[in-house]
Amino acid sequence: MTARIITARPVTDVPPVVEEQLEPGERAELKARIKQLMQAQDAILLAHYYTSGDLQDLAVETGGCVSDSLEMARFGHAAAAKTLIVAGVRFMGETAKILNPEKRVLMPDLHAECSLDLSCPADDFAEFCDQHPDRTVVVYANTSAAVKARADWMVTSSIAVPVVRHLHERGEKILWAPDRYLGDYVQRTTGADMVLWQGSCVVHERFKAEGIRELKREHPEAAVLVHPESPAEVIALADVVGSTTQLINAVRDLPSPTLIVATDNGIFHKMHEAAPEKLLLEAPTGGRGATCISCAHCPWMAMNGLRNLLAVLETGANEIHVDPAVGVQAVRSINRMLDFAVRQKLAIRGNSAD
Ligand code: SF4
Repeated sequence: MTARIITARPVTDVPPVVEEQLEPGERAELKARIKQLMQAQDAILLAHYYTSGDLQDLAVETGGCVSDSLEMARFGHAAAAKTLIVAGVRFMGETAKILNPEKRVLMPDLHAECSLDLSCPADDFAEFCDQHPDRTVVVYANTSAAVKARADWMVTSSIAVPVVRHLHERGEKILWAPDRYLGDYVQRTTGADMVLWQGSCVVHERFKAEGIRELKREHPEAAVLVHPESPAEVIALADVVGSTTQLINAVRDLPSPTLIVATDNGIFHKMHEAAPEKLLLEAPTGGRGATCISCAHCPWMAMNGLRNLLAVLETGANEIHVDPAVGVQAVRSINRMLDFAVRQKLAIRGNSAD
């Protein structure tokens, strides 16, 4: 019998980017009420770099963290708080729950998805893995709990290359999912034998190499910073290719007074804090007209706001649940990466978007 051809699920239903618009005075009122309820409920806020400046500031003001998904989950694990509020997208809430099964995990909006996660349904992925039984399964953090449970390793963008190089040196062949651009970058960097799931990030895949070249002509002094979920021709223009945290560090450490940044523009909040004197320019996407879907900002990240954060604290809605059996399987692939990082003395902060 011929094997069914398994491909990434097309993600066509991308919502528009709708930023929360607050009335004058509303911000202060919302933040004051949220702080009261967080204290009463022994909650901390874990905000991703791509969420709004309001949420990032609130996380810092209340003793939470602003980071990538894995560090958010690890911070939540180390904290004594009984409730973790994850401002990000669904797989981040699931990762927090997997690493903290005893804690209550809430999210401002359960419709906050990720195109990489959506492209990789667990059933199809399991069938794909079954078709390649000789390959070690390595998945990116931007996947569901069920997909992580099927994997041998979970990796973040900051550790993907060392892990795959290590496996390649041991003679292992790799099945990689879900981001084809990051997978292609890792394959070219390590020379490993890799089969790639064909998912993509709706934000990063739209950065345009020609637009960056034009911007470089206007700002020849600028350094180009690129997240590896971007297409190969965009990565080829980069002075620094790196995860979210690595790109923030590059803004601080590079001598260039101007930076062209190819990742979600939510990260500019922390980049401005890291180097307030520097000029940060968004790498061009498809344009701000009808052809622009994401405009360098994730529509699902934009679903997080102060109003829906207050609502979940008032109602207890939007709790994240992960089947405990799935969680036990998924945590193995995460712990394999964490143990590897300890052995190699590698930092794993600075995942993708994530
Ligand atoms: S920006 Fe991050 S969360 Fe949004 S679609 Fe891309 S990878 Fe997923």
